Amino acid sequence: MELFAQLTQLFGPSGYESRVREFIKNELKDLADEIIEDAIGNLIVFKKGYGENKKKIMLSGHTDEIGVQVIKVEDNGMIMVKSLGSSWIYTTYQSRVQFKNGTIGVVASRVRPDKIDDKFTNLYVDIGLSKKEDVLKLVDVGDAGVYMGSFETLAGDYITAKAIDDRVGCYMMMETLKNVKSAYHDVYYVFAVQEEVGCRGSKVTAARIKPDLGIAVDVTPGHDRPGDLEGSNTLGNGTAIKISDTSVICDEALNELMFALCKENNIPYQKEVIYVGGTDASSMNMSGYGVKAGAVSVVTRYTHGPNAIVNKKDIEASISLLSKLVDTKLEFLV
Ligand SMILES: [Zn+2]
Repeated sequence: MELFAQLTQLFGPSGYESRVREFIKNELKDLADEIIEDAIGNLIVFKKGYGENKKKIMLSGHTDEIGVQVIKVEDNGMIMVKSLGSSWIYTTYQSRVQFKNGTIGVVASRVRPDKIDDKFTNLYVDIGLSKKEDVLKLVDVGDAGVYMGSFETLAGDYITAKAIDDRVGCYMMMETLKNVKSAYHDVYYVFAVQEEVGCRGSKVTAARIKPDLGIAVDVTPGHDRPGDLEGSNTLGNGTAIKISDTSVICDEALNELMFALCKENNIPYQKEVIYVGGTDASSMNMSGYGVKAGAVSVVTRYTHGPNAIVNKKDIEASISLLSKLVDTKLEFLV
């Protein structure tokens, strides 16, 4: 879990993900057959399979996290930001954010808190300075920032941190590669950029790889607390195998195989259906002439905020499923 802890603390808002990419590349360079970095920053770690009827499997987790970007520095030193990716205004308010150069600020409101509404420009970042020229020495228009949220272990196998979406996916792919080393299939471990702003990285990567099967490795929201949307996702009850979200309907045969693998190997799992949000599974699914797609997810509470919560056992179950999947003959593709 040390590796997961480190991943969550790296700076990587959408479009500014080089620190995450470099970290992952460094960790995996000795295990890969080939590493490709493309023009927009996707990291593709290729591991050749040994199987006679091997296929191309693309696993896609994203390196970006929710952030903010400066749109204006005001005369009194208040920094106006927009959201990079979709964040809750109520979780952003009074969070700490950190810019790439290490400058820390607190998100405050220019109106009374109950009047913020859903208007991001009602917020501002306070770095402690009150003059525009002083602020500009540290923070300029266009600078991106991320939430601060340390990695902490909670009671009952739970973890909280910032950027769990989707460093947990990056972590699970890294562990899968370490676990299986060479698998039956050719596996492309894709650490994709800019998922939070519209699945951009996985779209071009799928076009490059032309996979036979595309699996998103990501988080999915929990449905076991009163403020959640409706649904069946619960924490601590196993890896979540996606059935559908607003962007994709997952391949039935692939899902049947994943359910069977979980049963055979005593991997706890749950079926995931959500009606808000999407994943990289959609861009793989819709690439080329169409690609069978699915997603292995970790149910997460309070995603897109500085203090998301996941359960260790769900992460372990997801790694176990992915490790089995890449090493299992895919009869339905033959
Ligand atoms: Zn995500």
